[in-house]
Amino acid sequence: MGRILIIDDDKTVSRIVLKVLNKKVGIDADTASCFAEAKEKIDPDPSKYAIAICDYNLPDAPNGEAIDYVISKQIPVIVLTASFDTDVRDKMLSKKIVDYVVKRSTKELDYLSYVVNRVFKNCNSKILVIDDSSVYREAMTSILKNQLFDVITARGGKEALKILEQHPDIKMIITDYNMPDMDGFEVLIELRKKFKKEQLAIIVASGYGGTDTIPKFLKAGANDYIQKPFSNEEFICRVNMNIETLDMIATLRDFANKDPLTGLYNRRYLYEAGTVIHATALRNKVPVAVFMLDIDKFKGINDTYGHDAGDKVIQAIANHLLSSFKRKTDIVARMGGEEFCVLTSYDDRDNLINFAENLRKKIEQSPLQYLEHNIPFTSSVGICCDIKNCLEEMIKEADALLYLAKSTGRNKVCI
Ligand code: GH3
Ligand code: MG
Ligand code: MG
Repeated sequence: MGRILIIDDDKTVSRIVLKVLNKKVGIDADTASCFAEAKEKIDPDPSKYAIAICDYNLPDAPNGEAIDYVISKQIPVIVLTASFDTDVRDKMLSKKIVDYVVKRSTKELDYLSYVVNRVFKNCNSKILVIDDSSVYREAMTSILKNQLFDVITARGGKEALKILEQHPDIKMIITDYNMPDMDGFEVLIELRKKFKKEQLAIIVASGYGGTDTIPKFLKAGANDYIQKPFSNEEFICRVNMNIETLDMIATLRDFANKDPLTGLYNRRYLYEAGTVIHATALRNKVPVAVFMLDIDKFKGINDTYGHDAGDKVIQAIANHLLSSFKRKTDIVARMGGEEFCVLTSYDDRDNLINFAENLRKKIEQSPLQYLEHNIPFTSSVGICCDIKNCLEEMIKEADALLYLAKSTGRNKVCI
């Protein structure tokens, strides 16, 4: 990730901004106290800076010239301004800035770190804009790109549905209502058959904002409605608000489904999602296997090196499992303590055995470097590779095989 450049002639402001960003964003920043110094820092390598925070009024650039310069170097810019009147605001918003922050109090600096964090996150958010009007398509794209969103466009509903198939990671759709081939309402109805509101946000942007139109969209599952023509600022606020809601829901989902120490799925999720995968595999006669893995003599590691070292070993095993089981339908879960469970599909039984054996060896051969210690650890694995009537039965069998591996020497795979 690139650095941040803070351009402000007031050294106290620069210092406080630097401190706030360090604490709340955790990214290194450089400072420049005038336009000339900013140029000196940017010119050798503009790509070094991911974002610039720039004072509107500098001694050697009194009318936002520094902002224009930073923008010309393709560096996204957040403007700091001491004065806030309609004239300055309009001037700023006519430039391609990310946002502006008024220098009044530390509260505004909280807003600044919020904007910086948001912009860094936006780079990973894909938005699809659907509009048959090239003017609106380009206007919306330009606003979103200023916020560093990854933007794709479509000229109508049918094209949009095709694009969505090719880009399943699209997070948000902003669609026009009236379009020739497939209108925004039809797009909404079609997409809501497949995607819930919390999976894919759909915002309708239309000029038909009658009292009956807006509720019609919202009741059919639109996340929001933006009335055309819109102001850039309102458009950004609404997009960000909806992206934040999606992020908040994803965080809550992670709280419910994931183990905080390793980031792996928890037992609850394994049973919930695994049951569906198991049932599909049973119906389609796809071979699936359940791995139960338990760290050997783990209590000894805790007793000898401490609980923190034990935690690191658990995390190391989680990483081994994540880098080994990479199929989209694989579920890697921490069942509790030092016990892990994986549900995976496979093609060939012998390959599966080799795979498990390699995993066991890899774990054995990767001791943990912790403080001045070199801590070796091993694992035992039980695998059920015959599909049974239900997932619980497979887990039970894998567990019995794990017990066999433990009772016959540990550091081995029983299948
Ligand atoms: P075996 O080879 O038979 O599996 O022996 P073991 O010592 O690995 O198994 P045992 O079940 O006797 O001990 C597991 C220990 O794991 C006991 C518990 O305190 C510890 N433990 C459970 N959860 C955590 C955790 O999150 N972090 C750490 N560091 N230790 C944990
Ligand atoms: Mg153990
Ligand atoms: Mg145990």
